[in-house]
Amino acid sequence: MTTPATVTDPAELVPLEQHRRDVLMRVLPLEPIELGLLEAHGCVLAEDVATAGQLPPFDNSAMDGFAVDSASVTIGEPVPVAGEVAAGSDLSASLETGSALRIFTGAPIPSGADAVIPVELAEEEGEDTVRFSAAPSSGDYVRRAGADLREGVTVLTAGRRLGAADIGMLAAVGRSRVTVHPKPRVAVISTGDELAEPDAEARPGQIRDANSFTLTAMAREAGAIAHRSPIVPDDRRALAEAFVGALTNADMLVTSGGVSAGRHDLVKDVLAQLGDVQFRKVAMQPGMPQAFGFLNPQGPNRIPCFALPGNPVSAFVSFEVFVRPALRRLQGRTDLNRPRVTAVLEERVTSPPHKISFLRVKLRRDGARWLARLTGEQGSGLLHSAVAADGLAEVPAERTHLTRGESVVVHILAGPS
Ligand code: AMP
Ligand code: MG
Repeated sequence: MTTPATVTDPAELVPLEQHRRDVLMRVLPLEPIELGLLEAHGCVLAEDVATAGQLPPFDNSAMDGFAVDSASVTIGEPVPVAGEVAAGSDLSASLETGSALRIFTGAPIPSGADAVIPVELAEEEGEDTVRFSAAPSSGDYVRRAGADLREGVTVLTAGRRLGAADIGMLAAVGRSRVTVHPKPRVAVISTGDELAEPDAEARPGQIRDANSFTLTAMAREAGAIAHRSPIVPDDRRALAEAFVGALTNADMLVTSGGVSAGRHDLVKDVLAQLGDVQFRKVAMQPGMPQAFGFLNPQGPNRIPCFALPGNPVSAFVSFEVFVRPALRRLQGRTDLNRPRVTAVLEERVTSPPHKISFLRVKLRRDGARWLARLTGEQGSGLLHSAVAADGLAEVPAERTHLTRGESVVVHILAGPS
């Protein structure tokens, strides 16, 4: 397919950064709530968490073996075994000089002992006597109190999305509940008379609704609790009903389709009537037509709403560029962007005048550099170009092409983050 020169007057275009800034300025973090640890997994912390004591709380053994006073051990000499200290024992055990205590991983180091000799270096003679094949140094196999964390240290800071290790850390420092921003609930709606559900028989002229599935999955990957609604036809009443219905338990609405210049593109009109939603032509490709604003604009629960264009790649890229960072902001995150790398282009690429293009690329490593090549044809309806992509290469608005060997910024598309 060839695409003729752009039909849009450049004067109508809003710079991408301006639109992004306008959107992100108006989206505010959801009010924090207190949740149990496992409910908080994947949520963003709204408080700083510090240790209440040291970790580990007491000196303990790193091995199964024998607690000894290192100064009094001689290689090969018999040493009496005076008892044992198991994990979970209280701190009352004490070692008499010249003897050893059998000890297990995690057990408190008895007073009078300063080292552990692992069982692998011990030859036991019955229950009561042991000989060691190596002489220990003071501190061997002892995990010191506070070696992991000292008391009063901030271990997790507000704004951090809680991963599995964080949840474990919270438990380790004695927290069973934490204050977090709740996961945003996102309602996703595809619009268009031509759309059919994936399991329905598609009439001639119909295509499957891909966008609501892509966008719901993307919202979930971005940390939201997202639900897709049934397809809505290009009909004012049906659209208004679906949008209002979706709001009842959503913190954000994302729609696709119906925001271009055709007479059946009713989404922008309907949203403009329902709330404070503005339509813009953003200087980007794919994804030029964009609508953003609020439903219930005066109400206590103003719901941010994105109406994305219907072409599947346009919807995908628009989500990456605007919706994902907005979702991160709703969650209280301050790091709004995906990681990016600079890559060297393996082929010449073209880009329309006056617009930033987001090209779907595959990345590969070449020594110290990343190399990027297109995933194939770049039409905004070609979903396979997104499926194959490792990242989105950003061609600046002032360039109409980049040559092979030029550098380009690539936004990495990874799974949950
Ligand atoms: P629109 O933005 O409504 O003008 O749609 C632009 C193009 O994207 C048209 O070719 C639509 O058929 C297609 N399209 C719109 N919505 C979807 C969808 N949910 N899934 C797949 N393709 C879509
Ligand atoms: Mg349409």
